[in-house]
Amino acid sequence: MLKKVHKAIDALYPEMVDIRRYLHQHPELSFQETETAKYICDFYDKLGIPYKENVGGNGVVATLKGGKPGKTVALRADFDALPIQEENDVPYKSKTDGVMHACGHDGHTATLLSLAKAIQPFQAEIPGTIVFLHQHAEELVPGGAKSMIEAGALNGVDAVFGTHLWATTPFGVVQTSKDAFMAGADNFEITIQGKGGHGAYPHQTKDAIVLGSQLVFELQQIVSRRLDPLATAVVTVGTFEAGDAFNIIADTATLSGTVRYLDPAVQEQVKKEMENIIKGVCTGNDASYTFQYNKGYPPLVNHETEAALVLRAGEKIDEVARTEEVVPEMGGEDFAYYMMERPGAYFFTGAQKEDHAYPHHHPKFDIDERALPVAAKTLIQAYFDYQETK
Ligand code: MN
Repeated sequence: MLKKVHKAIDALYPEMVDIRRYLHQHPELSFQETETAKYICDFYDKLGIPYKENVGGNGVVATLKGGKPGKTVALRADFDALPIQEENDVPYKSKTDGVMHACGHDGHTATLLSLAKAIQPFQAEIPGTIVFLHQHAEELVPGGAKSMIEAGALNGVDAVFGTHLWATTPFGVVQTSKDAFMAGADNFEITIQGKGGHGAYPHQTKDAIVLGSQLVFELQQIVSRRLDPLATAVVTVGTFEAGDAFNIIADTATLSGTVRYLDPAVQEQVKKEMENIIKGVCTGNDASYTFQYNKGYPPLVNHETEAALVLRAGEKIDEVARTEEVVPEMGGEDFAYYMMERPGAYFFTGAQKEDHAYPHHHPKFDIDERALPVAAKTLIQAYFDYQETK
């Protein structure tokens, strides 16, 4: 039967590409993706597959109950875009200025919708229930996953699988990890309140730029000198704003940045070390400060058994040349929340475009569309293989 499903997926390839390109031309920002949600609902309306809309926001959850007993497995695709001006010169270029599907979520949605259409004729033969989890707002904390779970999206669901079309992994390669797969992603903002003054009389001031510079330098030493060398973290200061003129000593400085980690104990240590450093630098120089640390998505930790299942599933797909266990990515992904609630695994489907290898969130990001059916086949293979597990 799966061979027949694969054939049905292949037959839908032109439509899959059309859906992806339509969505690519009509991107919507996180939490604003109402037209995309409507497009998804219309698609299920046409198929006659029941669904719930407005699940935890703009989320859509469709359900296809198979004719045979079995487990309920959710397959997830996100559908939001990014505030990026597209620089690709392609016929399917974004029609919305400053908004672009620069992470491939258009492809995820096209994959899942087409899979639903391809598998529906086999409904009577399907064991268990397929839940098509269309998630809004992956790109922006607090994200859509958490609110969809709170709204009951996982009720009755035994396991969750999902994939990301990955533009830096070659076509034909499926990758996952049996443990932490993507990082926890936090952000912070520090404001230093010094004392401004004339550039010629520094002794009468508390120079916020000098203190901010000291902070940037010392924050780098959390990873290099305070964490266990075998622990994993990133501390990046991404913005540093201060000063108004060349001959004025800055009164205030504002720094913001991101922290990435794989282990919650490391997250706590980094946060505590940051507090110590900021307090030390500022109070030692008689300046005041504010420090805001915002926790974002937790690390995405796959479940070992289900990740192994995905690797075996990938090997059964004709177009998959190889499957790989990989080290974690330091990017964040709110699929993490599903993995905290249910067994399952997230994986990358190689989608690198030949001679056009730009990373995710880049204005020239694009994917090899041949990866869409590969993603669909691997997802449905994982679904069927999971039915065989105890
Ligand atoms: Mn993404």
